[in-house]
Amino acid sequence: MMSHDYDLFVIGAGSGGVRAARIAAQHGARVAIAEEYRIGGTCVIRGCVPKKLMVYASRFADEFADAAGFGWTVGETRFDWATLIANKDREIARLEGIYRSNLAKAGVTILESRAVVVGPHAVELVATGERITAGTILVATGGRAEVDERLDGVEHVVTSNEMFHLEHQPRRLVVAGGGYIAVEFASLMAGLGTETTLVYRGEEILRGFDREVRRHVHAELERRGVRIICGDIFSRIEKTADGLDVTLRSGGRLVADTVMMAIGRRPNTAGLGLEAAGVALDAKGAVVVDAQSRSSVPSIYAVGDVTDRFNLTPVAIREGHAFADTVFGGRPVTVDHRLVPTAVFTTPEVGTVGLTEDAVIETGRAYDVYRATFRPMRATLSGREERMLMKLLVDGETDRVLGCHIVGPDAGEMVQLIGIALKMGATKADFDATMAVHPTAAEELVTMRVPSERHPARLPAAAG
Ligand SMILES: Cc1cc2nc3c(=O)[nH]c(=O)nc-3n(C[C@H](O)[C@H](O)[C@H](O)COP(=O)(O)OP(=O)(O)OC[C@H]3O[C@@H](n4cnc5c(N)ncnc54)[C@H](O)[C@@H]3O)c2cc1C
Repeated sequence: MMSHDYDLFVIGAGSGGVRAARIAAQHGARVAIAEEYRIGGTCVIRGCVPKKLMVYASRFADEFADAAGFGWTVGETRFDWATLIANKDREIARLEGIYRSNLAKAGVTILESRAVVVGPHAVELVATGERITAGTILVATGGRAEVDERLDGVEHVVTSNEMFHLEHQPRRLVVAGGGYIAVEFASLMAGLGTETTLVYRGEEILRGFDREVRRHVHAELERRGVRIICGDIFSRIEKTADGLDVTLRSGGRLVADTVMMAIGRRPNTAGLGLEAAGVALDAKGAVVVDAQSRSSVPSIYAVGDVTDRFNLTPVAIREGHAFADTVFGGRPVTVDHRLVPTAVFTTPEVGTVGLTEDAVIETGRAYDVYRATFRPMRATLSGREERMLMKLLVDGETDRVLGCHIVGPDAGEMVQLIGIALKMGATKADFDATMAVHPTAAEELVTMRVPSERHPARLPAAAG
């Protein structure tokens, strides 16, 4: 039998790669992991975690303002960007340390270098030129922010990566994009006091989310002072004495201190040597894998954002774990990508699981909509103009809850638990049979008795 330097070589120490490396090592494999930037990957270093810390920071302004209605007098408040960034960086460094020590404790060799694939069983470390062989290679290189390189003045834009390290808080920010990263940054920066404009080429922000969620978030963000321009894109950015001058295709002009581009993310496969090794990629550059995360080359697997399946941390972790159990634990595991609950950390927050109404309509089945829009209790005394949205989509025949969409405080927390119910196949009758927790906002989910709308089944369109 041919002997390799390692049983497993993982490229990329992010959510998926770290989990796969640790579990494979626990199964007894000799494992090495290469990382070109920082251990922990996008989520820990420049994604979910720093973003959520900044979201928390952005919500204090509401707390101060709302306190008055409850009898509090809050003195002068002031926000200091440098303090937030420094404290956030300290926490990220702490987490990075934990990731590193967990890998070391599991016996995984950490190689701090970019790695490229040079054959079905071989990688090369770019830092040293060293060639290393492995029985199995796992590509877990994640994704990277896409930037429109043809844009005149593109050199002036930043992506989410740089937003976490801006030296000064911008007084005026323009964000291009309508996906969750663009919308979250627009929301949090506005909360921190930055004058924020979001420019999105499509008709409505948050494509892929339920249409009512999209409209609701749009309206709530505008109410909170975010300017949203849909159906337009940048045509040029110029640096002037007053800042960055953004010209829109419509002819409109915006002036900003910082321009952020969040128009999408691409799988990180450029220059990785995968094509030369015979690994099939799709049109977007994602590694094409089967249900067990195996690529077209039997010794090369891929997990996480680089496969462009469901680009979320818990999914990457689950895929990494399943890979390690399947290949090194002798226990084949297939990840179930159905009913993935997810949140958008705007203020107000979105929590969603299951089908959107448009996706239900596409199936042609009969369905009922249960909808509640209401003022959260806290807003009564605070006087804050804010509405919460809860929407359940229910199969008209089987009574199964097909989708749940929430916009409002703690929506992400709520939908994590609703996700369990939906995964178990809960029906609307199960929701009705569940006693409410009072007084909460979540109780609306189990007290919506009468459908807001009933939609009959639609016959499939006649062929020809
Ligand atoms: C701003 C932002 C906010 C986000 N918020 C959320 C959220 O709230 N919730 C959520 O679930 N998800 C969120 N995500 C998505 C989440 O971060 C990703 O889905 C997740 O990190 C994917 O994990 P991964 O293992 O596939 O890749 P990553 O975590 O991206 O890890 C890939 C690693 O590979 C390294 N690498 C790449 N190429 C090489 C190479 N050739 N050699 C060596 N190393 C290499 C990279 O440096 C990186 O460390 C967010 C993403 C961003 C950008």
